[in-house]
Amino acid sequence: MSAGFRRAKIVSTIGPGTRKPDVFRGLVEAGTDAVRINFAHTSQADAAETVELVAETARETGRPIATIGDLGGPKIRVGDLPETTLEIAPQDTYWFVPEGEDPPDACDVEHLIPTTYPQLADEVEPGNRILLDDGHFEFVVENGDTKERWVAAKAYSSGTLKSQKGINLPGVRVGAPPLTDKDRDDIAWANEHHLDYLALSFVRQLSDLETARGVMDKGSLLIAKIEKSQALNAMADILPESDGVMVARGDLGVELPYEEVPMIQKRIIRLAQERARPVITATQMLESMIDSPRPTRAEVSDVANALLDGTDAVMLSAETAIGDYPIEAVKTMDRVIRRIEHERIGRTGRAGKQIRGHSQIQQTTSGAIAAASMQAVDRLDSPFIVTFTRSGYTARIVSAQRPAVPIMGITDQWRTFNQMALVWGVQPVLFRGDPNYKSMLERAREAALELGLGETGQRFVVTAGVPFHVPGTTNMMRVEEL
Ligand code: PGA
Ligand code: MN
Repeated sequence: MSAGFRRAKIVSTIGPGTRKPDVFRGLVEAGTDAVRINFAHTSQADAAETVELVAETARETGRPIATIGDLGGPKIRVGDLPETTLEIAPQDTYWFVPEGEDPPDACDVEHLIPTTYPQLADEVEPGNRILLDDGHFEFVVENGDTKERWVAAKAYSSGTLKSQKGINLPGVRVGAPPLTDKDRDDIAWANEHHLDYLALSFVRQLSDLETARGVMDKGSLLIAKIEKSQALNAMADILPESDGVMVARGDLGVELPYEEVPMIQKRIIRLAQERARPVITATQMLESMIDSPRPTRAEVSDVANALLDGTDAVMLSAETAIGDYPIEAVKTMDRVIRRIEHERIGRTGRAGKQIRGHSQIQQTTSGAIAAASMQAVDRLDSPFIVTFTRSGYTARIVSAQRPAVPIMGITDQWRTFNQMALVWGVQPVLFRGDPNYKSMLERAREAALELGLGETGQRFVVTAGVPFHVPGTTNMMRVEEL
């Protein structure tokens, strides 16, 4: 099997530092499998540049690159502060007022915090905490006026608050609609530009995903970002309706006490894998590399542990969007992943210790075929598994079994080819022509030799759904010879 094969995938967030042809190319060559466009901080004009860079790099390198449009979602923010910044003094009372509305008489300009959320006064109660800027500032609600729409809260932190910082209301059931007008506009843009995935921020319940599906292009896959305690409680509803999930540790560690995050991460990854939903572990993975060429030991351990938990992908945010060492950050991810996989999977390419959850899918035809193909791989020493897939479903089901050998995902769909780049253990292969078993098998043989996955004469396992044009069914397994 190919020594160069890496199973876990790397997501890089693109920002001003990486929206340049040479740097972008470097990011992909260093191992980026998927790029994230963070609409919370990216204009559609800048997103268009990123999409163009992806297309160009894909053309030049022939590599699959998944595009993820990350929607800002109903994130509540500090509005534009009258003086751009505001000194927060502990024990002082501050007034949270909807942007553009008049504060009460008692409030002076040194104690006014405009917000982007007019309903705040309706939803918080005395004693609730209001956290600003990733929890750097903590306030406790004293009282409020739902008519005049202000909330008075006492500060328990100090420092300089800047405009547009995020607001978190831990434990408060926020009634904001799941998609803002801006999200709807960004979705329309994403549809037009055929983004492979859309990530939905601050998912709270099943209906949030249904709302997004209703306006999304059908070919695009939906990632539920798990960053609220409400979402954690609704995982059983959310997972079946999503195509993937993100452990969004940034907001999760503010919405919940940060010490809860490590166990939550393990739980989300396990639940996602049981349902064959790819999972991305995100935020602050190599945070110090924003301004340092080397990671801290703690960060390396964090990445390693996410992989040992079974994540499909690890994500870089500010490290690649605005950091000074974006390519080094991707290279670091690549090194850590390879080292951990070497440990888990071993030198021989035979099955190592595997995480085999899949309790939710093992009773299905697809699950049974995927499990049977694992056995066949072990017994025949198949150096790889081939999946013929139109929607990518077969490849995801096989991936959830975490085979030790590479999964070749052959598809005739350009979008599926790129979507599979995010899925653990899958090597996407594009097929051009009439998608019948014989011609796809030929393409599989050719690609296996090209990619160095096996040698002539070796037997290999093929899984597919037939008829090929019906998505979401895996009902066939065969053994072929290279
Ligand atoms: P964000 O999501 O970067 O869009 O906030 C990820 C997170 O919250 O961890
Ligand atoms: Mn978030």
